[in-house]
Amino acid sequence: MPTVLLIEDDVESRKRIARLFARHEWDVLETEDGKPGIELAFAKRPELIVCDLLLPKMSGLQVCRAIREKLDAPKIIIIAGRNYDIDRDAVLEAGGDGYFVKPLKWEKLAAVLKRPRRRPGKLTGRESPALKFHPPSTRIKFWGVRGSIPVPGPSTIGYGGNTTCVEIRTDGEIIIMDAGSGIRELGLSLEKEFGNAPINLTLLLTHTHWDHIQGLPFFLPAYKAKNTIRVLGYEGARAGLATILAAQMEVPFFPVSWKDLPGTIKIQELKKMEFSIGKTRVRSRFLNHPGVCAGYRLFTREGSIAFLPDNEPFEPLKLKLAARDGIHLHRARAQAVVQRSKLVEFLKDADVLILDAQYTDEKYQDHIGWGHGALSRVVSLALEARAKKLFLFHHDPAHDDHQLDEMLERARLLVLESGRPLEVEAAREGAEIWLSGPAPAR
Ligand SMILES: [Zn+2]
Ligand SMILES: [Zn+2]
Repeated sequence: MPTVLLIEDDVESRKRIARLFARHEWDVLETEDGKPGIELAFAKRPELIVCDLLLPKMSGLQVCRAIREKLDAPKIIIIAGRNYDIDRDAVLEAGGDGYFVKPLKWEKLAAVLKRPRRRPGKLTGRESPALKFHPPSTRIKFWGVRGSIPVPGPSTIGYGGNTTCVEIRTDGEIIIMDAGSGIRELGLSLEKEFGNAPINLTLLLTHTHWDHIQGLPFFLPAYKAKNTIRVLGYEGARAGLATILAAQMEVPFFPVSWKDLPGTIKIQELKKMEFSIGKTRVRSRFLNHPGVCAGYRLFTREGSIAFLPDNEPFEPLKLKLAARDGIHLHRARAQAVVQRSKLVEFLKDADVLILDAQYTDEKYQDHIGWGHGALSRVVSLALEARAKKLFLFHHDPAHDDHQLDEMLERARLLVLESGRPLEVEAAREGAEIWLSGPAPAR
């Protein structure tokens, strides 16, 4: 008979789950807190551990991590009385196999028991660090979510103050989208993770506005000879990509020159709008933003991710410029409609959309032509593209956490009014999203 260990302080809930397992012919071990639970797990080696998220003296995440330090085999299910995506993600990150809201249902549990254990947890033996992100898992992590300039401080501590940088791990590749100030922390974290092992990564740049490249001189992996960094992007306005990247490190702006960086850095100017990074196919598209600015869509095995950090809606700009350009309003509007429908096509059915939502609708009226998004237009774009999840991104440096919360609420209300299914979040520094082939247990 297989054995399950129940770690749950709510007696009624624990007895209920114990009966459920007994009915399905499992041996049941029970305890009401994390420490005895961990000891029982080590002593009895159960096949399955079901643990409450909030125990009297420990969290279920701590229990999960402590068990995973030593035991790889048991499946660990965390149960909770609430349903936040962030908890679910944290459970998977801690090495758990599933996250369920109470009461626990046998059918859902059975699905987790059947499938092989996911292994994003601790490294063992001689595994290379990159291996832990092999399929079936694609992970997106936000390191910088802000536009224009870093704004650290108490009023932005919730969403974060660093400028644009998003890390994507998929199919054994590390792909970094943009090198704003958030890339500094990412660099430190990568070096800690890889230690003496070489890091191979691709930096994909949307454009060379400063908020998207300013972190690069502080990216630690570029200072280590063991590492190889491939930089991909399109020619910048007025100069080549290599020239622009080197320029921000020239005297008198910076003490270390680009060419003196010890890491192997290969800059490759993109000429095509479709290419591959390892096994991941990438499509790109130039966006409505001053200068040359690309948006990318990555097609991973587990779903597609579109990244458009700087983009302005077509119509208001077209209409504003119509008189200056000598174009009739109806013609300008028609042009905007065509451009927008091409963009919708580019984003069609994306699993994750990361879109420039810098301005509220009101603020945008004073910033038409600045190259950035307006909230309700961003939401309607995502709805029309039938995306699954939208992240509001490239937050205005003037918006504090409270204002971003309000924008998020507003966006969710718009989705609700539309009656269509679309999840909306405001991108938050440090947040991770997993795309998994077999969807994580819900
Ligand atoms: Zn920007
Ligand atoms: Zn820009």
